[in-house]
Amino acid sequence: MKKIRFFIALMAAKLARFLLKLLGRNASYLPGEVALKISKDFLGHLKLPETVICVTGTNGKTTVSNLLTSILAKNGYSVTNNSFGSNVQAGVAAALLADSNIFGKSKKDIAVLEVDERSSLLVYPYINPDYLVVNNIMRDSIKRNAHTGFIDYIISSALPEKTKLVLNGDDMITSNLAPQCKNRTYFGLDAEKPEVSEKPFLSDIVYCPECGALLESEYLRYNHIGRMYCPSCGKKSPERDYLCTDVDRENSTFTVSLKGKEHTFNLINDNIVNIFNFTGAIAILSEIGLSVSQIEKGFSQSEIVKSRFDTLKAGKLDVTFIMAKGQNPIACARCFSYAASIQKENKLLLIDIDDLHDNINESESTCWLYDCDYSYLADDSISEIIFTGPRCRDQLLRAVLAGVDKNKIILEPDVSKAVDLIDTEKYKDVIVLYELYRQPDADKMKIQIKNLGEGTK
Ligand SMILES: [Zn+2]
Repeated sequence: MKKIRFFIALMAAKLARFLLKLLGRNASYLPGEVALKISKDFLGHLKLPETVICVTGTNGKTTVSNLLTSILAKNGYSVTNNSFGSNVQAGVAAALLADSNIFGKSKKDIAVLEVDERSSLLVYPYINPDYLVVNNIMRDSIKRNAHTGFIDYIISSALPEKTKLVLNGDDMITSNLAPQCKNRTYFGLDAEKPEVSEKPFLSDIVYCPECGALLESEYLRYNHIGRMYCPSCGKKSPERDYLCTDVDRENSTFTVSLKGKEHTFNLINDNIVNIFNFTGAIAILSEIGLSVSQIEKGFSQSEIVKSRFDTLKAGKLDVTFIMAKGQNPIACARCFSYAASIQKENKLLLIDIDDLHDNINESESTCWLYDCDYSYLADDSISEIIFTGPRCRDQLLRAVLAGVDKNKIILEPDVSKAVDLIDTEKYKDVIVLYELYRQPDADKMKIQIKNLGEGTK
């Protein structure tokens, strides 16, 4: 009976997909939803590709899964992925059924599936991934994700023992996930080691996961990312099998020690968060058997997806667009830190990370602003900040509390008018930070800035 339901679900979903495509609509979610409505265990009946890699974690999963898909494709593998669709259960189902035949058998070599942390219990028990890559676990939208302990619990309880884990060894939460999975390997970053341990703005792990004593750190890079140890029971961050040992920003390369031998790769982007993402990607590609030269080739021909990081020249203006996820305090603070670090002086920031979209079905929460370290915006290299969007006054309050000079801040609630406030006589370097759900605004701003810089407006 279950089998019959599965085939009905598969046919209905394929029909839904066909019709959506015919109408020129997005088919990366709805067909999966149709399939799961008819057959709850739909994912369990599909005949999956020989290798199934899942990618999860709070920050970086889209970057890593896109990169893996692109590198595998460049090396001749056929890949199923949901990188341009939804990462919840229906999105995973939609991606897999799109690449399967009428019997539900995959036509691809490998599946690279980005999985939302909260979908773990609905996905992993059914697809039994061969590999799971986890970049980090940090606090995220409090309304959706609650606490990191909850996320740790659902990922850990969902995973079958056979899954090989590829984990960030510099994250004490991630490195302790799913102890039932004995087959595990770690990646991390040794280059650019901070000399003095910096007290983090906030930390998502304070106590030893083994004995409950207060953890101490050898050093921390940001939040709880770094090397930790327990003075009471001796537990410490694990040794890393894949270790980034050098980052050469001038020549855009980074070096990773793979099984004890060092190799240099093209550095696609020098944000520290991405250096972790890239090292994790190298680890999983090596684990599934790609040679160093295949991985090198992939890195030399890849770039970050333009929707997340983009640069443009508009007349005299050099403009950088960075997607900063609202409701996600640590990802957002990383973007602030990165924006402060690039282009050394006299720059203007235009920030559109308003989260009014959060208010569609319920009241929004602005509490995440206070979990996000705005003090990076007090950097001397930032001469002016334009906050835009209906919640720009909340942004101003938070920034001033973090030490940003109020005289440097301009408010413009109307996003369509914000670009007009850029003084092109005063500024050459402009950085635009925008929220994930405000991509349409960012696209419009790109056109407006181009016109402004080129004097065609
Ligand atoms: Zn301990």
